[in-house]
Amino acid sequence: MARRDPLPRTQRILQLSAWRRDVRALVALRAAFRCEHCHGFTGMDGECDHIVSRRKLAETGGSPWDTANLQWLCPGCHSRKTAAERRAARPQRPRSTLHARAPIAGREAFLAAAGFPAPDQPPSPAPVIVI
Ligand SMILES: [Zn+2]
Repeated sequence: MARRDPLPRTQRILQLSAWRRDVRALVALRAAFRCEHCHGFTGMDGECDHIVSRRKLAETGGSPWDTANLQWLCPGCHSRKTAAERRAARPQRPRSTLHARAPIAGREAFLAAAGFPAPDQPPSPAPVIVI
């Protein structure tokens, strides 16, 4: 039995873009051309978004082609969601210690000499001036 030849590259790309165009229209129609986050009217100017990101799907083995995982968002909501996902995926860096207060020898004595109360003592009441 002869094996079917794979489609030429250009035809595969055209089929994929036709699929994308049709799915995009389906998701927009399903959402009544409104952003599914802010409910603003987008017409066909909205964007098709993966609810569970493709990065997460790649990790969990989910299918990026599942239309139940698609939603219709306005460009603003889509970019905010994408930015939040990227922020969440970024490895957490340790907090900078640049502004942390280092112990300074003689600091307590200096503050006491300048009239500041010690940190463990309540501030002294303001002096009462009688005229
Ligand atoms: Zn929106």
